[in-house]
Amino acid sequence: MAKQPRTPSRPRVARTLPALRSAVAQLRDANEAIALVPTMGALHEGHLSLVRIARRRARRVIVSIFVNPAQFAPHEDFASYPRSFERDLAALAGVDLVWAPAVEAMYPPDFATRIVPEGPAKAGLEDAFRPHFFGGVATVVTKLFIQCTPDVAVFGEKDYQQLLVIRRLAADLDLPVKIAAAPIVREKDGLAMSSRNAYLSAQERAAAPALYRVLKDCAGRIARNAPLARVLDEGGAEIERAGFALDYLEARHAETLAKIERGQDGPIRLLVAARIGRTRLIDNVAV
Ligand code: AMP
Repeated sequence: MAKQPRTPSRPRVARTLPALRSAVAQLRDANEAIALVPTMGALHEGHLSLVRIARRRARRVIVSIFVNPAQFAPHEDFASYPRSFERDLAALAGVDLVWAPAVEAMYPPDFATRIVPEGPAKAGLEDAFRPHFFGGVATVVTKLFIQCTPDVAVFGEKDYQQLLVIRRLAADLDLPVKIAAAPIVREKDGLAMSSRNAYLSAQERAAAPALYRVLKDCAGRIARNAPLARVLDEGGAEIERAGFALDYLEARHAETLAKIERGQDGPIRLLVAARIGRTRLIDNVAV
């Protein structure tokens, strides 16, 4: 890896595959467990909580920062997605390695392979509204696993369906990596932290906590045996009254994401996606 000026706390940064390979080889030579935290940068407390979990699970921590074009549709926000690399590095003091490839390093012009998830975890929910999404995620995560050779990788429950799709992917492809789940980190008013919250106007930001409020309310009613369909209908209407356009509000089996008909068919996870202004937010809670 090329020498780069480093203050003691600044993590080492690899920007090319050869640089990554030599840095990972050094970590591997030390025979210490490696944890990987994949991110798209614009780091917030949610990401940093994943890094803390990674530290507890392995001696060495790699954080990848890569805004993955393959998981954005042409009309989505790839170009405007927030990028704050220098600030991210400062927040990652103590991390062993940051893997921040250029798009061309990850996807050379002749790139032509794709990992395509299938099955109940992938069906519906995000896949119904972002059909390109899980293929893009699975392809990049598979590459990240092969590149960084982690013993454990940490993913947030914020992207609950993604977490389950990646668990399936790792099991199906016999990847020798444990998938660890991290709980959702929220703002004081309940809004799940997200890099995309930066898109919200002051008025939208004030309305946004409704999403979590309604989720919690619905979860409480389902736990008290209120009829599932009615709870979800009323919850959806309340989200729309708060100023959102609802993509979905659904109750799914928490471990398989299989559809469920009745509140007793649990364990249940409630998942929501809704748009406010130009921002699409997702959230979920356990019942
Ligand atoms: P992203 O940079 O949005 O791709 O997210 C990178 C990882 O951080 C994913 O595993 C997310 O689920 C996780 N993450 C994002 N926001 C939060 C949050 N508020 N709480 C917990 N994990 C999160």
